[in-house]
Amino acid sequence: MHEVGIMEGALDMARRLMEKRGGNRLRRVHMTIGSLSGVVPEALQSAFLALKDSYAAQDAALDVAWVEAVCRCDACRADFSFTEHGYICPGCGEPALAILRGRELELTRVEWE
Ligand SMILES: [Zn+2]
Repeated sequence: MHEVGIMEGALDMARRLMEKRGGNRLRRVHMTIGSLSGVVPEALQSAFLALKDSYAAQDAALDVAWVEAVCRCDACRADFSFTEHGYICPGCGEPALAILRGRELELTRVEWE
């Protein structure tokens, strides 16, 4: 379950940011996760619940923005959903080589008090 490692990294970063700015308790941790990042939503949430006491985040909530993967076709320049079509362009049938979105794995915002 690599979600635990991801969550440890995010909470560690969030706590350090908070401490640097003089905060005491984390209130909300915002992350952006792409559908191709390999992260399972339920596993990420469980990891957060298991770890939060160790990171001054007992009362904190995890807020995840999930990003659907989007590909761009090399041949006709169309953008399309990876979830619906995979790598094959629905317009011209060519395989897309570029992934525009979907690999995000970021700590985007931290709230504390
Ligand atoms: Zn195409």
